[in-house]
Amino acid sequence: MNANLFAHFLVRSLHDRDRPLLETDIGDIWTNGGLADLSARFAQALVGAGARRGDRIAVQVDKSAEALALYLACLRAGLVYLPLNTAYTPAEVTYFLQDASPALFVCRAGDENVLGDIAAAAGVRAVLTLDADGGGSLMTEARQHVARFDPVDAAAGDLAVIIYTSGTTGRSKGAMLTHGNLLSNGETLVRAWGFTGADVLIHALPLFHVHGLFVATHCVLLAGARMLFHRRFEISLVMRDLPRTTVLMGVPTFYTRLLSEPRFTRAVAAKVRLFVSGSAPLLVDTFSNFEARIGQRILERYGMSESGMITSNPLAGERKGGTVGPALTGVDVRIADSEDRALAQDGIGAIQIRGPNVFAGYWNLPQKTAEEFTADGWFRTGDVGVFDATGYLSIVGRAKDLIITGGYNVYPKEIELVLDDAEGVLESAVIGVPHPDFGEAVTAVVVARPGATLDEALLLAHLKTRLANYKVPKRVHVVDDLPRTAMGKVQKARLREQFATRAKR
Ligand code: AMP
Repeated sequence: MNANLFAHFLVRSLHDRDRPLLETDIGDIWTNGGLADLSARFAQALVGAGARRGDRIAVQVDKSAEALALYLACLRAGLVYLPLNTAYTPAEVTYFLQDASPALFVCRAGDENVLGDIAAAAGVRAVLTLDADGGGSLMTEARQHVARFDPVDAAAGDLAVIIYTSGTTGRSKGAMLTHGNLLSNGETLVRAWGFTGADVLIHALPLFHVHGLFVATHCVLLAGARMLFHRRFEISLVMRDLPRTTVLMGVPTFYTRLLSEPRFTRAVAAKVRLFVSGSAPLLVDTFSNFEARIGQRILERYGMSESGMITSNPLAGERKGGTVGPALTGVDVRIADSEDRALAQDGIGAIQIRGPNVFAGYWNLPQKTAEEFTADGWFRTGDVGVFDATGYLSIVGRAKDLIITGGYNVYPKEIELVLDDAEGVLESAVIGVPHPDFGEAVTAVVVARPGATLDEALLLAHLKTRLANYKVPKRVHVVDDLPRTAMGKVQKARLREQFATRAKR
């Protein structure tokens, strides 16, 4: 069979033309046929504008059903979809356009005034626009075409998408994902999470990131399920739609926000069979409070742009808070030492992975790609973790966040867990900042629970009774909020900059 991911969507769901696929938050209903037809017209329009097989199509548009149809159009036409975070500034967009040299750039109407010149300078052939309300020049062009476009024959190894990594630890790199990568991971998740045509998913995640674009959307399209498509996570909309929802996928902040909503009860969530969390660590506190309130355990999973999903707590077996579960079927995960040798269970080390979901490399960076794979073919995720005796993985942090103080390794997570347990602490982030004697000084940044006041000396006393001296932070800074990315990841690089000069000797 044609390995084009779109061809698989067609067979699995989109052929059933009259079946509702997506409902927007203002109640517009898109059938499979409606969305597939728009994708065919878009494919015609993109090819008409000069895009050829293998060309990159950079896209920075607001979330909408039309934006999803544009993704499908690229798959269908053998074009490489390149989504960009809507928060990126023109300066950032310049970097992506120059790096990826796309044939076409699709942006929001209004943005083309600023971005048009940038795109032209980067050699982009044409700039088209698409608005969340369905307006824009791409739409006008698409209307001129008939809704027919045979999916291009693709091999499993052909490129489907380039996703730029969020770059929390350095320059953003374009992860190249193939049709085969995306299909294998989508199928694994449908099976692991028991997706069927009866499922109704609240889709409140952004469409420019692996979580919303692949995990949520592919499960729905491969299982013939339905989605309630929210432009963004808005608690009132989620509360409105929960009674007819079977699955919610979110980042941890979705769950903390739901828990702060008194109307979020067992009765409202009665039909939901699965709450999934990922993209950033879920606090054990949130996991436990959620279970106490709703009577269900959130299923936490772990993945990344370069590979899709890697591990997941089980649908049927025990879900353990503070872990991301065992490896998914077909994905190999090992913990390795600095020489790339597999460690025994209980050893803390680098998480390395292998499997059909692992990407084809970083765009234009063969050297960097080679460095990120071991001699025996495992991909270095850059995360540090440990397996427990039952094969459940816990993430200890990013390798680059590891703190080395006076020659000792300190894993931020260990200290964050102790801090999160202290009275009045809502959440914490532990970083290393330059220090003349120790190389790096362990430094904590904490946020108070609503109504609580935090005292540095008391927090330090709490830490000292529980941690070896070298792990105890030199300073504990209290802030109102931790800086986060759109996907809820704490931006430790920003904290390191902010607190760099404030370490106490
Ligand atoms: P991205 O490529 O933007 O999806 O970011 C991937 C990174 O997010 C991973 O390498 C992890 O560091 C982090 N991540 C994803 N899921 C989890 C999770 N459940 N717990 C902790 N970190 C996570």
